[in-house]
Amino acid sequence: MQIPCSEKELFVIDKVARASGSLGLESYLIGGFVRDKLLGRETKDADFVCAGDAIELASATARLFDPVPRVDYFKNFGTAHIRLSDGFDIEFVGARKESYQRDSRKPAVEPGSIKDDQDRRDFTINALAISLNHADYGQLIDPFDGLKDLEAKIIRTPLAPVQTFSDDPLRMMRAIRFASQLGFAIEENTWQGIRDTASRISIISQERITDELNKIILSPKPSVGLDLLYRSGLLRIIFPQMVDLAGAEYKDGHGHKDNFYHTLQVLDNLSVYSADLWLRWAAVLHDIAKPATKKFEEGHGWTFHGHEVVGGRMVPKIFGKLKLPTHEEMRFVRKMVELHLRPISLTKENITDSAIRRLLFDAGDDFDSLMMLCEADITSKNKQKVKKYLENFQLVRQHCRKVEEKDHVRNWQPPISGELIMETFGLPPSKPVGIIKDALKDAMLDGVIPNNYEAAFAFMLAKAAELGLQPKG
Ligand code: ATP
Ligand code: MG
Repeated sequence: MQIPCSEKELFVIDKVARASGSLGLESYLIGGFVRDKLLGRETKDADFVCAGDAIELASATARLFDPVPRVDYFKNFGTAHIRLSDGFDIEFVGARKESYQRDSRKPAVEPGSIKDDQDRRDFTINALAISLNHADYGQLIDPFDGLKDLEAKIIRTPLAPVQTFSDDPLRMMRAIRFASQLGFAIEENTWQGIRDTASRISIISQERITDELNKIILSPKPSVGLDLLYRSGLLRIIFPQMVDLAGAEYKDGHGHKDNFYHTLQVLDNLSVYSADLWLRWAAVLHDIAKPATKKFEEGHGWTFHGHEVVGGRMVPKIFGKLKLPTHEEMRFVRKMVELHLRPISLTKENITDSAIRRLLFDAGDDFDSLMMLCEADITSKNKQKVKKYLENFQLVRQHCRKVEEKDHVRNWQPPISGELIMETFGLPPSKPVGIIKDALKDAMLDGVIPNNYEAAFAFMLAKAAELGLQPKG
């Protein structure tokens, strides 16, 4: 076997080879599994291709296991899939030859040889196959010098780039995703092919585009992929708001930073500490409204007042357009965008406990994520300055810790509920109930009353009296 596999994997691969032999088929391990094994990356699924009926091969393989696992198959596509008990997924596909229509990424398919099948793979490093046949078991079949590209860390299409990308434009996203995930370079002709074909990305469904975009954002250094998306022209088509961040303007000797590259830097900084997709999305979007709020103030320079609020409002629209989840995840990202300037405002001197309590209350359980984003947002090139800012944030954290220990506001629940207010004053759900609740919250956060039931009850009575309300009975 010319790839390093675990015993368990060899055990499974051997079963496929035996099933294939008994059916008289020609079969190979192919694609991502072979690539990732050679790179020493983790794998959790493996693809097998055979010249013949893949569903039959899957069924024959399944029968060699005890107990026999379930085989899921798609008759129309001639593909099958088995999930083994330990979460190892194996996929079977019949070797095919494809030809494409111009307006669709759905090819006309006919059965083909293993060579035909390798021809239709997207990149040389994804076309590597391992023979499972008696004559050359374990041998690497590498018609496009994929091994050489793997060693040189190069992404290259096996056939003419423009044809490859035009046939299935998703491959452009995949090229950039692999470059970002693996730290590979895109070969020059392949890169030119992407630039020439970028506009065809429009025939790809949003879900598949976003899937690749998320993988880019989750890669070790996401700026690599996002910058490639930008320079290829793809980002302008799939996510124009982000491209609007690019560029710096000068007027009367005042400039502002290039917010596109600043955003990439923030995302990279954050990615060193967090692999959370949604916090990474918050980094992508934290300054998204800078173009919309940009103003030049005479004698002062460029300002972006309110960009956190306007940015917050842009989050649902962008999530909707990109078909990202619009519930909890979106709310989290929006909250991060809206709050991203707050900790900075607390690095000044003489900050009151009340300002700290407001931040703890507003950030709640996401306080640590917010602080991480704010620290990543420091992108000055001046090391002295960076050190000073980070120290200031440490002081904010300390202050927050102290106040939280004392007042427990992070997960604050009002000691007096709306129901209790209604019952005490014999009120239906109505405006005064809301007014009293808000006043209670403000009084507690501002330190007017301590955070306990008795104080809150007394405050409620006083506030209600102000509104002309008396307790019933
Ligand atoms: P990963 O699993 O990390 O996404 P992968 O390369 O395994 O990477 P899959 O989508 O699992 O990607 O596809 C398995 C194999 O199928 C690839 O290695 C490649 O050979 C082939 N393939 C996948 N998508 C395409 C495509 N759009 N065009 C051509 N070949 C593709
Ligand atoms: Mg895969």
